[in-house]
Amino acid sequence: MIIFKSSQLLSHRIEKQKKSGKKTGFVPTMGALHHGHLSLIKSSKSNNDLTICSIFVNPTQFNNAEDFKHYPVTIEKDLELLITHQCDVLFLPSVTEMYPPGYFKKTYALGEIETILEGYYRPGHFQGVCQIVDRLLEIVQPHQLFLGQKDFQQCMVIKKLLTLLDKNEIDLTIVPTAREKDGLAMSSRNLRLNEEQRKIAPSIYKELRLIKDQLNEKPAEALKDEAIENLEKKGFQVDYIEIANSKDLSLTKDINQPVVAVAAASLGSIRLIDNLLLN
Ligand code: AMP
Repeated sequence: MIIFKSSQLLSHRIEKQKKSGKKTGFVPTMGALHHGHLSLIKSSKSNNDLTICSIFVNPTQFNNAEDFKHYPVTIEKDLELLITHQCDVLFLPSVTEMYPPGYFKKTYALGEIETILEGYYRPGHFQGVCQIVDRLLEIVQPHQLFLGQKDFQQCMVIKKLLTLLDKNEIDLTIVPTAREKDGLAMSSRNLRLNEEQRKIAPSIYKELRLIKDQLNEKPAEALKDEAIENLEKKGFQVDYIEIANSKDLSLTKDINQPVVAVAAASLGSIRLIDNLLLN
């Protein structure tokens, strides 16, 4: 695996590969890699000649300074995992490499998707995500971009970003959520859970499963309320559990359309998200 810290050198290398007809797949991450990230790497490897992973904890997408400060960094282990999984290239830039002095922060006209659900609870988050993905796509110029379904709303935001940037030729591939044996969606933030919190954390997925199992038996509103109540009883602070149209995330009570249950809840200062397609 080759590690690049310079965007210029990486771009140069990729240009050369592209000229020789090689297909490139790109997996952007914030590191503290787990099997969810690695499933994206595997998908990229099976579809492309060259797989590029980036690790960059992007400060502009954190609306909470404490969350940024405590975001897990496990670079030695990440390198080992990437090498074992035969990732071809790692892009490991510094903050000044990504946001050099004089960098002009663009604003992206994302529409309603920016301000609902995650956007409501994390103001500015999706603008930050777009800033970094825009920069990364400029440098990497991939044929295929791999994202995880775990961040359902983020996938929609990036789809919109590709349209705004006139980059619809990039094939956006969404990979299913990798879970621990007990159902907990894999996440770098899980590393921050203490023993007690780790035991309770799978309840989010359990509640999403309950919603799915009872969808045809109870009204959507009642299912949501029960799930929130159950999580609160276990000590979660719930931001939302919603049933939404899976095409645009508009909230709905009509389950005769493609719907997804989305959830965000915190245990102490650790905020977890998950989702489950319901039909
Ligand atoms: P992150 O490092 O959390 O920014 O995630 C980098 C990429 O990995 C994003 O596209 C995430 O959606 C994806 N990802 C994170 N967790 C999982 C998971 N459990 N299963 C599948 N993809 C994931």
